[in-house]
Amino acid sequence: MTALAVALLEDAARVGVVVHADGGRLVAEPKGALPAALEQEFRKHRVDVLALLATAVLPPSSPCWTCHGLRFFARVERLIWVCSRCHPPGDPSAVVWHDVSAVTAGTVVNFSAKSGGSGA
Ligand SMILES: [Zn+2]
Repeated sequence: MTALAVALLEDAARVGVVVHADGGRLVAEPKGALPAALEQEFRKHRVDVLALLATAVLPPSSPCWTCHGLRFFARVERLIWVCSRCHPPGDPSAVVWHDVSAVTAGTVVNFSAKSGGSGA
C-alpha cells in the first residue's frame, strides 16, 4: 500500500505539514497543523507510512554546500532532498519542503561569529 502512504504524505504536504518517523511513531510538523481527518488516515495507515519513510532519507541539517541555501524539497514518492535554490522544483505544490534554518539556527550563529570578531 505504498501508493496510499505516498498519497497521504502528499495530502500533508499540501497543507504545509511534513510527516516523519520518530522510532515507531509518526510525527507531524508543525504540530497540530494536520487536519483531523488526515491525522486519522495517518493513524489508520501508520505502518504503511512508516515503511515508506524508512526508505526515505532524513532532511539535511545543514545549509546547501553549494549555495548555502536553507530550503530543501523532496518529491514525496522519492524522498531525496534537493536544494531549492540550486534546483527549483517544477511544481512547488507537489513536493515536501524542509527549512534548515529552523533546525540549525544555533549553527548559523556560530558561522557568523567565526568570521567577524567584534572590533578585530
Ligand atoms: Zn544550493
